[in-house]
Amino acid sequence: MKKIHERILEINEKQSSAYVNDESARQRHWAKHTTFFACIKCMDGRVHFPNMTLTPIGIVKPFRAIGGKFDVFWPSFLGRMRHWVEAAIHQGSRSCVFVSYHYSGSDPHLGCAGWKYDTAAARAHAEKLRDDLRFVFGEQLTAIVAGIETDCDVLTLHGPGGDVSGASLKGKSEEEMRMEIKKCFPMVTDDVLRDLVPFMKGNASHVSGFDTCARTSAEKDHDERIVAVGQGFDWLVTGNSNLALIINDSDPNLQESVKVAASLIVKNLARAMNDEATLFTNVPYTEPGLDYRQAIARTKSLNAFIKKVVGDAYPELSASGCLHTLATVMFEPSKKIEVVGEE
Ligand SMILES: [Zn+2]
Repeated sequence: MKKIHERILEINEKQSSAYVNDESARQRHWAKHTTFFACIKCMDGRVHFPNMTLTPIGIVKPFRAIGGKFDVFWPSFLGRMRHWVEAAIHQGSRSCVFVSYHYSGSDPHLGCAGWKYDTAAARAHAEKLRDDLRFVFGEQLTAIVAGIETDCDVLTLHGPGGDVSGASLKGKSEEEMRMEIKKCFPMVTDDVLRDLVPFMKGNASHVSGFDTCARTSAEKDHDERIVAVGQGFDWLVTGNSNLALIINDSDPNLQESVKVAASLIVKNLARAMNDEATLFTNVPYTEPGLDYRQAIARTKSLNAFIKKVVGDAYPELSASGCLHTLATVMFEPSKKIEVVGEE
C-alpha cells in the first residue's frame, strides 16, 4: 500500500476510535446544549472548526466547498441542509449554522485561494448565503457569518450589534461571554446563545495558546497532499492541519473545484521533491445492502471522475508517478473507512 494511503488509514484508525470514545462526551454535550450546529466552510486544510473551538468532532456538521462558495441553487446542498434542519425540528431543537470565510492577518496571499485572496468578496458571499438560508428556513435557523483568521485560528462572529471573537473573550467568565455574544446578537434566542458559548470559550482558550507560540510562515501556508472529494471527512482534518483539501460532492461545479485543488497540490509538490499526493474519495453509509453498495459505486465512480479531471488539467502531475488514488466507503456510526479501490 502507498505510504500516503497508510497515513490516511492510520489517521482514520485513531480518529474513528476517538470518535466512538467521544460518544458519551457528545451525549453529555447534547443533554446540556440542544441546538444543532453546522459550519459552511472552505475546502482549505487550514480551516478546522473542531480544533479551533476545542470541541469533539461530530458536534458541528461540516459542509465544505472551495471558498465555502455554496449556493442555495445547488440542489443536493439545499436538500442536505433541509434534511439536517428537519432532524432538529423533529427533536424539538433549534438549528444554527456558521457561514464562514477565511483570511490571514499577516499576508493577504495566505488567504483564500478560492476567492483569489479577495476577503471582502468572500465575506459578501457569506452574508448573501446567510440571508438566503434565513429566507428558506425562517426562525428555525440562526445563520451567523463567521470570519476565520488562519494564522492564529481566531474565530470572529459578525452580528448586527458588532463583532465578538475568541481573542476578545480571553480571560472572561462564561456568563461574561454570553453577555458579549448577546450584545452582538440581540435577536438570537436564549437557548442558541447559551449553546454558542462552548465554541467561543474553546476558541478563546485555543487562541491563548498562540500568545507564546506563533506559527511560522511555512506553517501558515498551504501544504496539503490530499484532494478529498465526497462526504464525511471531519476525522481527516482534526489534529492534522493542512493535510487535505476537502470538497463536498454536492458542488455542481465539481470539475472546476477539483482543478483549483489540483493546482495547489502541484505547487505543494514543487516544494517537496519525491513526495506523494493522492486523490481520495469517500462516501458514508449507515446500513448494509443497498446503502453500502450505493456508497461503493459512488466512491469508485467519483474517483474515476476526478482522476480524469486532474489528468486532463495537469497531465504532467498524473504522469509524474507522485499522484495516487484512493477510494473508500465509511460506516457512519463509527467513521471507520474501508478501502474499495487504490492505485
Ligand atoms: Zn479558502
